[in-house]
Amino acid sequence: MEHQPSVQAETRDLPPVDGWRRVERTGRARATCPCGLDTGMVPTSDAWGKATEHDVATSS
Ligand SMILES: [Zn+2]
Repeated sequence: MEHQPSVQAETRDLPPVDGWRRVERTGRARATCPCGLDTGMVPTSDAWGKATEHDVATSS
């Protein structure tokens, strides 16, 4: 099983300006990996921490 943890930042839509879609980061993110890791939405720093730990723990 390949481990490729990735972190996806959560965004939310803001009202469009001049027809441009706008989003902003909510400060939360989710770390996932093809092996089944899924932190759900947690604070961004936690998601990065989990993804980094996961990468370190599985790279040997
Ligand atoms: Zn994994």
